[in-house]
Order: sequence, then structure tokens, then C-alpha cells
Amino acid sequence: MFRMSKLIFPLIFIFISANAFAQSKSPIWNDVAKADLELMGDYVGGWLGEPESNWPNNNPRLFAQVVNAGVGIYDIHLMQDLNRRAQPEFSTRANVKRDKITVKKDGWNFVISKDKIEGSRMFGEEEVNFLLERDPRISPTMGKKPPQGAIVLFDGSDFDEWEHTDGRAVTWNILADGSMEIEPTAENRDADPKIGGGIQTKRKFGDVKFHMEFRYPVEPDRSGQGRGNSGLFFQGAYEAQVLNSYGLEGFWNQLGALYKHSAPLVNAARAPMIWQTYDVTYTAARFEEGVVVENPRITVYLNGTLVQDDVELKHHTAHWQNSREDPVPDEPGPIMLQDHSNRIQFRNIWIKEL
Ligand code: MG
Repeated sequence: MFRMSKLIFPLIFIFISANAFAQSKSPIWNDVAKADLELMGDYVGGWLGEPESNWPNNNPRLFAQVVNAGVGIYDIHLMQDLNRRAQPEFSTRANVKRDKITVKKDGWNFVISKDKIEGSRMFGEEEVNFLLERDPRISPTMGKKPPQGAIVLFDGSDFDEWEHTDGRAVTWNILADGSMEIEPTAENRDADPKIGGGIQTKRKFGDVKFHMEFRYPVEPDRSGQGRGNSGLFFQGAYEAQVLNSYGLEGFWNQLGALYKHSAPLVNAARAPMIWQTYDVTYTAARFEEGVVVENPRITVYLNGTLVQDDVELKHHTAHWQNSREDPVPDEPGPIMLQDHSNRIQFRNIWIKEL
């Protein structure tokens, strides 16, 4: 008996340790397709040689986005710049074959292979080559330290500052890399309906400066609002949308939007699995004798790019039209993070009261 337990104990220990270092307890984060790891994302580069044709000669740089559109299916856009609302010079949808995507269409001829795009385009009679390299384009505010006087809301150690919106202790996961991950109600409903749900800060806030890092998984089987959806709420009411919006239009319900209130100025969304940043300044409404004299205002930077510029919140960021005219909050409220059935991860969250 003694010998047995001596053997079992280290085995259990090894099992727990290995588990603790997994990226997540869900396959959505751990079993990522090779093509998503090697091909998906932003590319930066330009035309090679000394083109004679007017267009490549005067537009030397070239960019691309390779966007997951399904299992083994990608939307590819080539353009003059990223996150500037530059119209694509060329867009197509293509499949992965043998770890590569090969495109030959409309004078474009290129191959996307591990971390690069190599190919050419015909300009009249001239064939001009180009080379682009994959670039994660890490946000300039990534890892930003809390300023003096800030409250650290999450640093990877515990959920002490948080509770579920119905007051339960937080049932989301803390991962070994210092992030938290949504444990969705939708995945646990049958086993235990008390798992998952949105969370909120125990403290309440009015005017604040706020920093958060987040990332969404690939979810190749999902699309639209069903993919990488969460939300960041100020004063318990106004939502800066979190959604896998990589390569999308930048609509009013996508990443960087104030949900169904204001579309982002540009779509600065990064590819799934890449850590991104939200840096927000929020000012609560002002009242005089119980009457709103100034609506709330909000400025939002997504990955260091201004996407909401001192926007006056004229109505609630509600899904239903009928709820948008709800009363303006007249006292401090919590910061909330939404469980929208997707396993979003968050880290380095802090807030400073202004
Ligand atoms: Mg949302």
C-alpha cells in the first residue's frame, strides 16, 4: 500500500502540472489548425525590383490580410495600407492545400506559405513581383503598467475584484499564463447552470481611465456575432464591443464599436489568437437637480488606434431599439465583461478613477 501511494502521488502531480500549462482547458484554444497558426493574419511588404509600371512604381508598399472564413477556407485581401479603410486592390476566397494557399486570378499569381506571401501581378505586359511577411502588429499599449493610483482589477492571481452579475463567486478560469478565460454558461448548462455568466467589478466607478488586454480564438465553425463575442461595459451600461472582427467591415456591432451606437472610425481588429488592447477614457453623465445636463462621453483606442473620439453617448448601447432610450445612469456602476458563449481571454486589467 505504501509503495503504491508513493507511485501514484508523483503521477497525479505530473498530470496536474501538465494541465496547468495548457493554454486553456478547451480544444478551441489548444487544437488550432496548422494553417491558422502559420497563414492567418496581417502581412506587410511591397513590390520588388524597379517596376516601370505606374501603379507599383508609385505605390511601393503592399499589405494583406488572411482571414479565416471556415475550416480550411480563407478570405484574402491585398491593399495599400492596414486599418485605414483602404479599399482592397484584390480580394478572393481560397482553400488551404498542403499547408499553402495558391491564388491565380485576375493577373494576380501568389502563394501564401508559412509566414509569407510571394508572387506577382501583371501590369499590362509587365510582371512585377512582390513579397510580404506576416506581422502580428502588436499594440503599442500592450503590457502597459497601471499608473500611480490605479486599481489593478486583474493581474492573473485571483478574481478578488470581481463577481458574477448575480452576485455569485466567479466561475471563469484563471490560466497559467496570467490570463482569465470565460467559462461559458452555454457549455455548462446541462451539468451545472450556476457556471458561467457575465462578471462585474465589485467596486463601482464613474469617470475612469481603463486598460485591458484580450484575445479571441479562431472558431472556424462560427461566424458573425457567434464568433469571439463578449463585451466591455462602463457604468454597468455602455458597451465597447468585443467580437472577432478580423477583416470585417467595421460595422456598429463589431470590435471597436459602441454597440449599436457608433461604428469604429476604422476596423483595427487583429487576427484571432493575437493579444489586443482596449484603452478607454469614460466620463459619466452630469446631472443638475436630477436632470441630465451632459451625456456620458467615451474615447476608445483599440490596439493603439483611435476608434471612438470623445463620443457623446446619446443612448444606451442596447441590442433592442426599444431599450436604447433607457434612463442615463445617475450613480457609479461596475465594469462588466460579458459571457456571450465564446471563450475569450483577458489579462492585465486596471482602472484609474479620474
Ligand atoms: Mg458583445
